[in-house]
Amino acid sequence: MTSSTTTRSEALFERARAVTPGGVNSPVRAFKSVGGVPRFIREAHGAYLTDMDGTRYVDYIGSWGPMILGHDHPVIREAIATALTGGTSFGAPGEREVELAELVTRLTGAGRVRFVNSGTEATMSALRLARGFTGRKFIVKFRGNYHGHADGLLVEAGSGLLTNASGVLGAAAPSSAGVPEEYASLTLVSEYNDSEALDALMRLRGHEIAAVIFEPVVGNAGVLVPTPDFLAALHRVKASGALLVADEVMTGFRLSLNGATGLLGLEPDLTCWGKIIGGGLPVGAYGGRADVMDFVSPQGPVYQAGTLSGNPLAMAAGLATLRTLEADPGLYERLEAYTAALAAGLRGLATEAGVPLSINRVGSMLTAFHQDVPDGSIRTYVQAARSDTAGFAGWFQGMLSRGVYWAPSQFESIFVSGAHTDRELNVTLEAARAAYGGTPV
Ligand code: PMP
Repeated sequence: MTSSTTTRSEALFERARAVTPGGVNSPVRAFKSVGGVPRFIREAHGAYLTDMDGTRYVDYIGSWGPMILGHDHPVIREAIATALTGGTSFGAPGEREVELAELVTRLTGAGRVRFVNSGTEATMSALRLARGFTGRKFIVKFRGNYHGHADGLLVEAGSGLLTNASGVLGAAAPSSAGVPEEYASLTLVSEYNDSEALDALMRLRGHEIAAVIFEPVVGNAGVLVPTPDFLAALHRVKASGALLVADEVMTGFRLSLNGATGLLGLEPDLTCWGKIIGGGLPVGAYGGRADVMDFVSPQGPVYQAGTLSGNPLAMAAGLATLRTLEADPGLYERLEAYTAALAAGLRGLATEAGVPLSINRVGSMLTAFHQDVPDGSIRTYVQAARSDTAGFAGWFQGMLSRGVYWAPSQFESIFVSGAHTDRELNVTLEAARAAYGGTPV
């Protein structure tokens, strides 16, 4: 495969920059940390994206997680089309919201669930609820975890904050301009996978803490896998009366039908979802213990609302996605097999080419850190940050120019879908062989 023209993407990017900050509606899309022209996408089907210049790419973004069944899946398309014939928004309750809530509570064990419109809204609302329920002010988060862009959560945050905000690597809280120190001071930051630090913090401040929010498998510092020790420490926080809030926006319905929580045997008080729960349309949700959730308005005193919440099209897409996942439990095994083969392939090729690489993977989430440490040994944000980002950027461009669209940042996970087959795997590994070898296109 050869490098193709980017004329139309370039022209659109120029027009976009004149009317939108940085030319994009979410920072990582601008390719700031990897350079080059962000591809403007015309359409997406199955495992492929097609850009405005007509170039096709094997897609490892999957819209950053939602497209677990691949793009333009016929069942999802049909469900949305059917919903569309009944109108696009009611501002009054409908049947699909009840059906999706029933399905989510059955799959996850949550007592109640409330739908919102994004992952950001889900975490923001869950933390307000935790504060309302406990009557406490402080929350704890972990360095390099990302929970959306609500003020109090942009503190030592991961994802685009690791590559786009200026001087953020290793910087002190907050990680965005515009977040008052007073807000940030209510967010206490601990190190992911450091059970002693978490225990010490809880001993000292536990009585003031409303919630401990965490990514059960991190995707937003690149993939980080929790240690059993750390999981045990997370459960211990409940003893202080703080609520344990699992952010499964990325991992929910991806790592299993009950997310990372099900996979790891976690028992959070509240859980946040997004991405897959909306099947590619804008949905988030939070749920969990019924006694806590009943603090949400109109049942309880914690206010939270949304004009488009429970939107019929979004509910239809979410329902169709979760039902399809439930009807095909073998899908998770196929995702596992594909991603394991991808990891093994990358490992072998990087070793052959003498490129230092350390792979972290859980199911269909994978990050290949450009670092000379054993696979699986990167456990914290500080370790992840030691990666050779220039080396990664060069490799990323090598992949892109050969028709493989990897996540455009060293500190993100890639996402494999059910539409990825041996054919895409072979194309990917062929591209990777040349990209690690530095072979010109
Ligand atoms: N939490 C996690 C773990 C996420 O990965 C993200 C988004 N990548 C969010 C929250 C925020 O979700 P959204 O972008 O839908 O607001």
